[in-house]
Amino acid sequence: MHNLLSRTLERLDRVRRDRILPRIHTRSAGVEVEAWTVADDGEPVSARHALGLARDPGRTAPGYRPFPLGAAWGQAWATTWFRIRGTAGQQAGPLDLVLDLGWFDHSVGGHCEGLVFTPDGTIVKGLHPRQPHVRLRGDGAVPGLLDADGTFVLYVEAAANPLLLGLPPFVVTDHGEKGAEEPFEQFRLRRAELAAFSPEIHALACDLDVAGGLAAELSADEPRHWRLLRAIEEALDVYDEADAEDGARRARAILAPVLAAPAHASAHRITAVGHAHMDTAWLWPLRETVRKLARTVSNALALLDADPALVYTMSAAQHFSWLEEHYPELFDRVRHHVERGRFVPVGGMWVEADGVIPTGESMVRQLTYGKRYFISRFGREPREMWLPDSFGYSGALPQLARRAGSRWFLTQKISWNDTTVFPHHTFWWEGIDGTRIFTHFPPAETYAAEVTARELRHAVTTFKDKAIASHSLLPYGYGDGGGGPTREMAERLHRFADLEGAPRVTSRSPAEFFQEAEAELLDAGSLEPVYRGELYLELHRGTLTSQTAMKQGNRRCESLLRAAEYLSAAASTLRDAPYPHADLDEIWRTVLLHQFHDILPGTSIAWVHREARDTYRMVEERLHDLIKQATAALGGERADPLAAAEPSAAVVEVTDGEAGATVLDDGLLRVVVDGGGHVVSLLDQRGGREVVPPGRRLNELQLFRDEPVRWDAWDVDRHVLRHPQVLDDVTSRKVIRDGSDAGVEVVRRTGASTITLTMWLRAGTGRFETECAVDWQERERLLKVAIPARVSARTARFETQYGYVERPLLANTASEEAMFEAAMHRYVQVADADFGLAIVNDTMYGADARADGDSTVVRLSLLRSARFPDPHADQGTHAFRWAVLPGADVPTAVEAAYAFNAPDLAGLSPIAPLVRLELLTGHAVVDWVKQADDCSGDLVVRVYETQGGRASARMHCHEELGAGAVLWETDLLERELTGDEDLPLAVGPTHRSVSEARLDLGPFQVATLRIAAPPKEDIQ
Ligand SMILES: [Zn+2]
Repeated sequence: MHNLLSRTLERLDRVRRDRILPRIHTRSAGVEVEAWTVADDGEPVSARHALGLARDPGRTAPGYRPFPLGAAWGQAWATTWFRIRGTAGQQAGPLDLVLDLGWFDHSVGGHCEGLVFTPDGTIVKGLHPRQPHVRLRGDGAVPGLLDADGTFVLYVEAAANPLLLGLPPFVVTDHGEKGAEEPFEQFRLRRAELAAFSPEIHALACDLDVAGGLAAELSADEPRHWRLLRAIEEALDVYDEADAEDGARRARAILAPVLAAPAHASAHRITAVGHAHMDTAWLWPLRETVRKLARTVSNALALLDADPALVYTMSAAQHFSWLEEHYPELFDRVRHHVERGRFVPVGGMWVEADGVIPTGESMVRQLTYGKRYFISRFGREPREMWLPDSFGYSGALPQLARRAGSRWFLTQKISWNDTTVFPHHTFWWEGIDGTRIFTHFPPAETYAAEVTARELRHAVTTFKDKAIASHSLLPYGYGDGGGGPTREMAERLHRFADLEGAPRVTSRSPAEFFQEAEAELLDAGSLEPVYRGELYLELHRGTLTSQTAMKQGNRRCESLLRAAEYLSAAASTLRDAPYPHADLDEIWRTVLLHQFHDILPGTSIAWVHREARDTYRMVEERLHDLIKQATAALGGERADPLAAAEPSAAVVEVTDGEAGATVLDDGLLRVVVDGGGHVVSLLDQRGGREVVPPGRRLNELQLFRDEPVRWDAWDVDRHVLRHPQVLDDVTSRKVIRDGSDAGVEVVRRTGASTITLTMWLRAGTGRFETECAVDWQERERLLKVAIPARVSARTARFETQYGYVERPLLANTASEEAMFEAAMHRYVQVADADFGLAIVNDTMYGADARADGDSTVVRLSLLRSARFPDPHADQGTHAFRWAVLPGADVPTAVEAAYAFNAPDLAGLSPIAPLVRLELLTGHAVVDWVKQADDCSGDLVVRVYETQGGRASARMHCHEELGAGAVLWETDLLERELTGDEDLPLAVGPTHRSVSEARLDLGPFQVATLRIAAPPKEDIQ
């Protein structure tokens, strides 16, 4: 037969665009528009102020003026309120108010948006390019919008958020801050009118989307492809826009049989769940996210009200909490739908945090603050970790999730890998400690699907685990900047419920999906897929270094929190001082908020990072105050072992070496700094090992031209690392002394930047320490410091949450090569058969480590200055510290890491520690001590095994805790264990005397121990 259908899909596109979509809304009347632009500082005002219901203090009263169609509104980041009046007329059928605020069709949630209010301040819904209407009459209309005479008044809060990530992407712009001098093209009000809505033509458009989309995805070898094309061709033949309503009805009748053909028996099954991935801050400031939530949630609620089959999910307790605080009426509606299982809180974390940079205790608190919020507000505890967008996931997360009572883990980000393809979508993820968690990567490989045939087909073809699993999850709805699902997505979802050639699509909660998918996996037998270790993302490696103030603020706050909680617990336990629960909660929530996956990684606009720097400063001050309070209560004593500098009688001797070199020697280490300020020898005199390989130089500063292909603040590309420029210039060089310590200070210049390295041999510590002060004026340059070591190893140990991850030093395979820049916490350690070496740092997170002949080179990343989205990132002064510890094993590195990061508590005299581990075998540490979150006064002690081996220990308490103190093990939320956790326990849930308790810890095992004094009645 001739191919008469060769242009059917092209014809469909044209007819749909020009003759169907424009007929869905038919103009029925104009409206009267007035506008008022918020003056003063231009920051948002309350709806009550804008609506004239109440006055915001210090704000100019709203003054609405007539506003013509086509006029420009809104400077960057300003807010304009529109007042819109009209009369609906008497004709029957659905009627919409349709608005075009100046949309870019390609960007939902990434530029201007609106939120519609009634005159009494009730929120109606959000507006964006794909949701530009308000239903005034007919199905889905909010009751009461029209008066008895058909008139209405609505207000629109329009936010002039600039389009920062446009086409082409990653264009440098200053509009990430308010008040930029760069010209700004204002938005224009292009459309404001009443329009009759045709359900029939809308339904035809949805039918054709599904039929055409499916035909395009199916191979021409399949009969179904041709049946769909024929039906589409015939439907287009009968659709005549001259009588569009009747044409739509006839066309739909032709399409009905092909859209009624059921799916194959073995069709893949998809659980579709409405969602709006909402970045807590990114290309907009934190305050805008609060408004984005109102827009997105009100849209989602309108859709849930209109379509009883749909389910919507939202993560991040912080977001719910903002809604509760700023939009209580919306929050009540959310709660109503939560109770009915249709609005589902997921994730159980405070925010969708970065997955690798926060310390272990921070991840614990993400989970405990998140879960407690959901339990307190909704009586529900999410059982999945929901991190679709974070930039890699530490190997500690399976254990932490499971110990917080979660069962499942979700992300899709690993599909962004630039080098290798991850082998699974549904699998057991096994952490560094051996804990497994059911894990699913939605195979549509997006967290913002639109429920198209292409996405569904992609999900089926991509899904790696077809042999053992038949389900996958599809989070659909516009994301990043919010927006969420639309009625068109919902319509397609219904059409794909049971359709030949497509997977079966069901609207259900994530928990329903996880339960069924986990059951399937448990049935996988010998094909059971397991992935062990961290989920390293082969992309966005620059996020470990960008906006260094975020990393430093976070690390310092974590270290201060550790000291503040420990000292407050000591002051409370030993001196009956009140424990500052409320202050600590508020501080923790602030620190957790800033661990969001675009703030801590340094990938937000300048505005976000400026505010974050101020916030970190304020939080650090508050923590210093809490530490002062606690130490005052303790009588000026500190409770070791938080920071312990061992007094030593050693003194560094300084002598002149050859060719202007300086030799530093304290009897343990002997360091030679050459005339150019480089370390050419570091001799460990205890075993006679030379650390610096022949011809190499330690502390060499290397500069790289850092011009990413894409995603500037996110990516360090491999091409960047190929051509280091060594900074050899010496502006000054001098020998320095400080008590028994001595060192060499070298000042180097590059461009307009100055780098001062102050290299200390700390007498008697076995530590060669460097303080680095940088006045950084470079852009698009990466600065690293190289530490070569004469250690022949195949892997290096990078500290991560509660342990380390071993990464390859070789680049034999593609995945090994792809780890060319990776995350570390406080140390990197390398070792050969008889010698180890550790490098500890105070605030850095990015490093690379590679074998170099019989040696190893570790390079710490200090600074980079991408130009998008913040063109002035990292300009200014910075300070870093690192130390090289020759001969250090992992326990030594861990102890040094604590000491190196502990806040300076000098001047306080030590007292006996509150709790102490007596190690019997192996190595474990007390990582954290605090009071229980339930304000009972119990102590909570977090310990973990540090080396990846086994450790046993006894716990000793301060004598004032009393000999009768009892101890038992809990989950991370400090709850009694039920015995069903299926997790290794260090002591178990039985209450026993502390002195009788023996802790047994497996590799990297974390234990949460609760200690109560005086003894309770139920001691066994
Ligand atoms: Zn995100």
